[in-house]
Amino acid sequence: MSDNWFNQGYDNVDKAERERSTGGKGASRWWMPAGTEDRPSEKECIFLDDEPFCFYEHNPKIGGEFKGHWYTCTQGVWPGERCAMCANDVPRYYVGLVSVLDLSEWEYQGRIYKNMRRIFPAKIDTLKLLRTKKKRRGSLVGTRWLISRTAAKAPNVGNDFEFIGEEKLERDEQSGLLLLSDRQYWWEDREGVVHPPTPFDYKKQCAPLPNKELAAILSGSVVEDSNSQSNRGASSNNGNAGDKPSYNSNASSGSGSGSGPMSPDEEEVPY
Ligand SMILES: [Zn+2]
Repeated sequence: MSDNWFNQGYDNVDKAERERSTGGKGASRWWMPAGTEDRPSEKECIFLDDEPFCFYEHNPKIGGEFKGHWYTCTQGVWPGERCAMCANDVPRYYVGLVSVLDLSEWEYQGRIYKNMRRIFPAKIDTLKLLRTKKKRRGSLVGTRWLISRTAAKAPNVGNDFEFIGEEKLERDEQSGLLLLSDRQYWWEDREGVVHPPTPFDYKKQCAPLPNKELAAILSGSVVEDSNSQSNRGASSNNGNAGDKPSYNSNASSGSGSGSGPMSPDEEEVPY
């Protein structure tokens, strides 16, 4: 038996955390099933920020799944190295992340979950749409929207944004952030303290991995799927079968990275 199944000491903690935050166990992403013009899929959300965190990203299909496999392109990140995903011809795309509160409600293992915080990944067409909405309104923070997706070819975050209203906001003196005042949106931690939903720490969520790790993930020598198995099994309730994009459509249409709603796990609840 080889000795490579454990590490003693703290050297790999950072690496594991990066894998957790950029791989299958990262923050769940906003996603909508395809829908049609007559029967669009619909969800409501509240924007928590409106200045997208933009970068190039890869979404390789690993273990038969696109979902959960988002990796920051490392072009220009590690001096003198080429991004391992680019080197393996995995297409990259430009994406801007904002944070939303997903107001939909669902049941998982007998518990009702709602108001989950999600990363909203906007590709170029959606970024342009958000830019227009922001220009018109001044700010998107605290605005509530009914978002619809009316076609399989439409961006999988949704293509129709209907303004519903504005939530009351209060400024946090320490962080300077505008927070939702309404306590129905706040979440309770294990100690029973309630917190307002705040935007994600994108730098942490999307920290670039060393190219060696990216290459290992692509070659399958990192079996990260074992971690996300349970997520995937549970999320099949959400009906996203048959809506996986191919690289080609992905690259040209600006639609879909194939992410599905993730089931809550210990780290995600109540987000
Ligand atoms: Zn790359």
